[in-house]
Amino acid sequence: MHKTILTTPDGASYPILTGSGLLNTAGAEIAAIKAPCRVMIVSDKNVAPLYMEQAKKSFAGAGFTVSEFVVNPGEESKSIAVFGALLEAFCEAHMTRADLAVALGGGVIGDLTGFAAGCYLRGIPFVQLPTTLLAAVDASVGGKTAVNLDHGKNLAGVFHQPLAVICDTDTLQTLSQHEIHDGSAEAIKHGILDDTALFEIYEHGDPESSYEEIIVRSVIYKSKIVTEDPNEKGVRKLLNLGHTAAHAIERLSDFGISHGHAVAIGTAIVTRAAVRRGLLAADAGERILFTLRRAGLPVVSPFSPDDMARIAAIDKKAAASDITVILPEAIGRCRMEKIPISALSALFADGQEAPA
Ligand code: NAD
Repeated sequence: MHKTILTTPDGASYPILTGSGLLNTAGAEIAAIKAPCRVMIVSDKNVAPLYMEQAKKSFAGAGFTVSEFVVNPGEESKSIAVFGALLEAFCEAHMTRADLAVALGGGVIGDLTGFAAGCYLRGIPFVQLPTTLLAAVDASVGGKTAVNLDHGKNLAGVFHQPLAVICDTDTLQTLSQHEIHDGSAEAIKHGILDDTALFEIYEHGDPESSYEEIIVRSVIYKSKIVTEDPNEKGVRKLLNLGHTAAHAIERLSDFGISHGHAVAIGTAIVTRAAVRRGLLAADAGERILFTLRRAGLPVVSPFSPDDMARIAAIDKKAAASDITVILPEAIGRCRMEKIPISALSALFADGQEAPA
């Protein structure tokens, strides 16, 4: 088992545990830092049949009083309606501020549960038990929580740090290739941002036998960034590499293109744009595109630069008339650049695949 401690400047400090068999010991790990209380385990209809009983047994065995709340799988559950239903379920279970919400699932369950835990009674503690590669390398760490609104992705949410993150790498065995690819996009993103060795696992290594290392490297990097900038006022914006286009692509596809796949396309777009603008060497750009493809990810957007820019303009990260975009300068180093929203379409156009 590997342990990383994330400490934020405002005093939050929590362990991130990664390893095999941790679902069985999660209850005991939490009992060591939290007195026995009510626990509501939130999951979805794909994950619950696989891991709910194991999770319940783990927490009940450690002295917690356990109930469950299971939602439909997929992005549709990151909605105000499901968020409201979860808050009502907390009430029905008589949850107090001394009690605990537990997210057992992927990024959807983590974001939904974290947001509900952050709002219920002005905030109750919650624990992340990520079961997708994407949630393990990214979504479960850092305290960003949200649901979607009709106007866009993640438009309602709070920063609410978990009490602990416990990733049982055994749960990744039941993921489909599509979901593995999704998580790979965020891990490759971390490699491009900061960690060449992580990038190279995807470029010429064997990711399938390296998930623990991939998760630990990602968690260490993300913890470093969140420690410096928990509320995304500065350096944390780097983690949005590829995300301006990605959120637009998710919405334009009516969420038919999943988050990780959209991030891969978004990363390919800013990579090509950085090469065309002389910020990134052409061979580094080629390595990034090759590595995304090698990980089974798409690198071409089915939507026009104008359509993506129109949707991105109403993304919450657009402050006033400017937007911060992240551009790779080398593998392992990226820069933030504030550009007028009116310049976004030209950036996306520079990021299109050159005609053959
Ligand atoms: P997800 O939660 O929808 O999971 C993907 C699919 O995998 C679902 O169908 C789920 O039921 C299934 N699944 C989960 N674990 C499984 C397992 N072990 N075995 C079999 N099936 C399993 O999606 P995701 O890709 O994990 O996360 C995407 C979400 O995360 C998006 O909403 C995105 O916005 C969010 N996100 C949040 C952050 C953050 O910092 N909060 C960061 C990145 C992404």
